[in-house]
Amino acid sequence: VIRISGDRAIQVLRTLGGPPPVPRRASRATLRDPETGEVLDEALVICFPGPSSFTGEDVVELHVHGGRSVLSDLVAVLGKQEGCRLAEAGEFTRRAFEHGKMDLTEVEGLADLIDAETAAQRRQALRQMDGALSDIYERWRQTLLQILSYFEASIDFSEEDIPQDLIEQTHRESLVLKDEIERHLADGRRGERVREGVRVAILGAPNVGKSSLLNALVRRDVAIVSEMEGTTRDIIEVQLDLGGYPVLIADTAGVRETTDSVERQGVSRALQRAREADIRLVLLDQRGLSAAITGLVDSHSILIANKADIWKDRPDVKIAGLTALGISAKSGEGIDVLLDVLEKAVQDRFPISGGASLTRARHRAALVECNVALDSAWSTDGGARGPELIAEDLRLACRALGRITGRVDVEDLLGKIFSDFCIGK
Ligand code: GDP
Repeated sequence: VIRISGDRAIQVLRTLGGPPPVPRRASRATLRDPETGEVLDEALVICFPGPSSFTGEDVVELHVHGGRSVLSDLVAVLGKQEGCRLAEAGEFTRRAFEHGKMDLTEVEGLADLIDAETAAQRRQALRQMDGALSDIYERWRQTLLQILSYFEASIDFSEEDIPQDLIEQTHRESLVLKDEIERHLADGRRGERVREGVRVAILGAPNVGKSSLLNALVRRDVAIVSEMEGTTRDIIEVQLDLGGYPVLIADTAGVRETTDSVERQGVSRALQRAREADIRLVLLDQRGLSAAITGLVDSHSILIANKADIWKDRPDVKIAGLTALGISAKSGEGIDVLLDVLEKAVQDRFPISGGASLTRARHRAALVECNVALDSAWSTDGGARGPELIAEDLRLACRALGRITGRVDVEDLLGKIFSDFCIGK
């Protein structure tokens, strides 16, 4: 599909011999080079007159045959038409934003939808593209603007002081808002994890079967399995779709005391990765767990006793209130149960139901900034503050919220967000 957007889009279609445009109706057209009259393709053509189009401008779509010659000749002919040039990456979406068809969170939702690899990612992206986040942030911004307007009005027009009860009432309202923002922030980063992947680390002593477990979980050979200890030194990471969640499973170096400096680095990275992980798969065998690993077992861990095929009469292993799940990475015994347990752990940790959650560090930073400004507005350090100072902090808080949806000073952000799109979107 070749998309043309802008004032001259329909004129360009006419020049190529396109049919008279019927809005949003597909029609067949013989497209010709206007200079030579040569037929370029038999195409399907759809016109979307602005503002009811993706970009908000007149948009023409040429559905052509995908052959190399059709495309290159058509693009060359289009390039000769007045006002026509190739779009830059994300330019269509940028125009949609500039014409108020979408705000920034919706644009990000669209980008996430294009990148979505699992069902949870798709659902979250669609929800954001539909304005679930915009609705929340815009409502908050309107509340703040309302509060701010009392102060602005008093500062600008009133000879008298702002009545005390108005100050108290607006103070109460901003406390309610701040509380709501805090609850939104304390979401365990579920939106970010669904977007970027839930991080799971496999942790255990050398030779306990970590690489074998990774291979068994993803059902293919991604990690080297070897009888030699200390073979996994770097972190191997594989993405898995678990019940619609993107899950990044990392196989790490076996944790043990060692004098080999390369292996020691591997061990320290393994421990680091395990600490950062959302969920830890702690693997043990007949030899038990070392203190370094035991310290990392918590409620977000799954304790696994491997080598069930040769570890007969295994006693119940219990650490930090968890009971080990018996599996054999080699024979595959217990792997399905483990996948179920892991899926449930991921769902419990990052539930998708409930309100929309923020999906990017950018949103988080702006919300924190907004709350800092709200705190400052009503701080009583050095006595109550004058209305001018309160108003200035409220303005900062509003601006922080506005930056998330792109209602104010966004220029610096735009380049970054739109450049991630591909050409033609
Ligand atoms: P890692 O060092 O923890 O990654 O362990 P590997 O996955 O490389 O496995 C070390 C050795 O243990 C290899 O010889 C594997 O074949 C063996 N192994 C792994 N899992 C099992 C298992 O469930 N049963 C048996 N019998 N051997 C296993």
